[in-house]
Amino acid sequence: MTATFLGIHTGSFSSPAAGNPTVVMVEASYRHHGIDARYLNCEVAPGALKDAVRGARAMGWAGFNCSLPHKVAIIDHLDRLAKSAEVIGAVNTVVATHGELVGHNTDGQGFVESLRTVVDPAGLEVVVLGAGGAARAVAVETALAGAARVTVVNRTERRGAELARLVTDGTGVPAASVPWDQPYAVPTTTDVVVHATSVGFGNGDAMVALELDSLREGLVVADVVVSPPRTALLRAAEERGATTLDGLGMLVGQGALAVRHWTGIEPDRDVMRTAAIAALRI
Ligand code: NDP
Repeated sequence: MTATFLGIHTGSFSSPAAGNPTVVMVEASYRHHGIDARYLNCEVAPGALKDAVRGARAMGWAGFNCSLPHKVAIIDHLDRLAKSAEVIGAVNTVVATHGELVGHNTDGQGFVESLRTVVDPAGLEVVVLGAGGAARAVAVETALAGAARVTVVNRTERRGAELARLVTDGTGVPAASVPWDQPYAVPTTTDVVVHATSVGFGNGDAMVALELDSLREGLVVADVVVSPPRTALLRAAEERGATTLDGLGMLVGQGALAVRHWTGIEPDRDVMRTAAIAALRI
């Protein structure tokens, strides 16, 4: 009797799990590359996370994503963390490696991959608007990619200062925080501005408090907001001659890097982007 290959098992643990675009994106890449793998979108309540991880271990899953609300809590159930996940203090991708479950954070790496399609952040001055989960991943990974300086601009000053400290202590890259109590004028020395607040999610007309005329030719303006991808900020930046980058590239990048970890293949980003656009109906 020949042995039956049972395929690669992967998935996502989150709550609420419905509407997660990564499922469609990852499944599309498995199909496109002819990989015998599945991605299961699992509704996992906070109290069930430990058992869900034990289940994945017991069933020999190649790994899984974890999304809200598990990105920090998952750390207690893993064997170790990769460098950037350790600095960021959050995990979105778990990889089974030689009997261990290793926590990675591909959100920031996905952002840097997307950023590199327009500019390499090495040696550049970067401004990050926001200090939540997405901003942490972007600020840390941009610093690890060699940014010269990171400035964090956040509404709640304490959180901004914490993130700036995290970047400096965790990566050695100089970082500072700036209070955001009036429209922020992007300094003329800035090369890249990344909008990573939740403003604009689900509302293409919502705009963060910025001096719009500080957006200029030669500046890269990136937004992490995925839906809708053409945010008011990106439209304003485009009108003023800046180079713009939407949040879809980060979404695709984080998923593609997870697929690479689990399967060893380099997935086609265009296939994943098309699937994400269809899933999000954008
Ligand atoms: P968090 O809740 O962790 O952080 C929200 C951030 O937005 C905080 O810095 C908060 O500031 C700030 N904020 C909220 N409202 C305002 C406002 N009115 N004015 C100024 N700042 C404000 O959210 P996440 O970091 O998880 O998500 C942020 C965005 O990133 C969402 O749109 C999310 O969908 C997107 N995202 C995109 C990804 C991608 O792959 N493209 C991946 C992950 C997230 P304060 O500290 O003062 O409250």
